Amino acid sequence: EADERESMYLVSEFAQKHFAQMLWDTELGKAIGLSYFKERGFTEETIKQFNLGYCLDQWDGFTKAAFDEGYKLKYLEQTGLTIVKQDSQNPNNPKTFDRFKGRVMFPIHSMSGRVLGFGGRILGNDKKAAKYLNSPESDIYHKSKVLYGIYHAKQSIAKEDNCYLVEGYTDVIQFYQRGIHNVVSSSGTALTPEQIRLVNRLTKNITVLFDGDAAGLRASLRGIDLILEQGMNVKVCTFPEGEDPDSFAKNNALEDVQLYLEEKSQDFIQFKAGLLAQEAANDPIKRADTVRDIIQSISKIPDAIKREIYIQECANIMKVSEGVLFTTLAQMGKKGS
Ligand code: ATP
Ligand code: MN
Ligand code: MN
Ligand code: MN
Repeated sequence: EADERESMYLVSEFAQKHFAQMLWDTELGKAIGLSYFKERGFTEETIKQFNLGYCLDQWDGFTKAAFDEGYKLKYLEQTGLTIVKQDSQNPNNPKTFDRFKGRVMFPIHSMSGRVLGFGGRILGNDKKAAKYLNSPESDIYHKSKVLYGIYHAKQSIAKEDNCYLVEGYTDVIQFYQRGIHNVVSSSGTALTPEQIRLVNRLTKNITVLFDGDAAGLRASLRGIDLILEQGMNVKVCTFPEGEDPDSFAKNNALEDVQLYLEEKSQDFIQFKAGLLAQEAANDPIKRADTVRDIIQSISKIPDAIKREIYIQECANIMKVSEGVLFTTLAQMGKKGS
């Protein structure tokens, strides 16, 4: 078991090196992959720091290179780097394909820096293929327990005593390059308790920075309760419509990004109250729903003193009495929600 996992780590490490080599040392890699990253505003230093790469647009260029180096098909298949298709004409010689054919590659590292899997992005905005493809779940890559960027961010998260949580690979990289290093991403999977626990070991404070679109909003709302449940403090900072942390950090100087984060970060009650204010502050039913929604979130907080302080804040912001809020909170507790 442990040996098997070690073999999977080794082939993943090889893949990281191979994809980087294709990016930097081949004409096609430079013309297609490297220029793609540079157009996105990544410097060569950044591209190297994150071990970005390119998988050539060939059926099995990577798989053949791995065979040449003596890596076994078994581990190539188990890590999902190679897709194996049985050939009925030729049962002893199955066909093999590179999963990430023609994609730019984002290696995903563990807390200690080992390569667990990859995200691969298609070039351009071809709507026919999935924009991002990830390694499949495997014995070394448990998606729900991994945060993209954690290896690069861990020291800074502890030092700054805060962690920025973003949606995508490029958000992490662009923030990092801009000089904000305490940033990680759940990269495609909905945020999980295990991912939050990874951060919880380093800081009690998370600031959720999701995209300025409907999907980003939904994801922030889901994330809030999960973070509160672990006794952590959560702030939310939204971006202008159509922007994400990547585009924002690419187009603004560090000072301006920092200023924006400071000024726009809200605690979760202000955030939820603000959503209501945007749509229907005067609609009593929607107001009541918002209050209940906020109390629902407060009910997730393990610490009774913090709950009380947040109830006071909710009462002030939503202009309702603390008494009725405590009653509602108590009723929610009884229903076990
Ligand atoms: P880019 O800036 O490269 O276009 P993004 O990171 O802004 O991409 P979003 O569309 O905002 O991408 O999605 C956020 C994250 O969700 C992505 O970084 C990726 O991890 C994941 N994701 C997006 N599209 C897909 C997809 N089709 N399949 C799997 N994961 C995806
Ligand atoms: Mn988005
Ligand atoms: Mn995005
Ligand atoms: Mn983006």
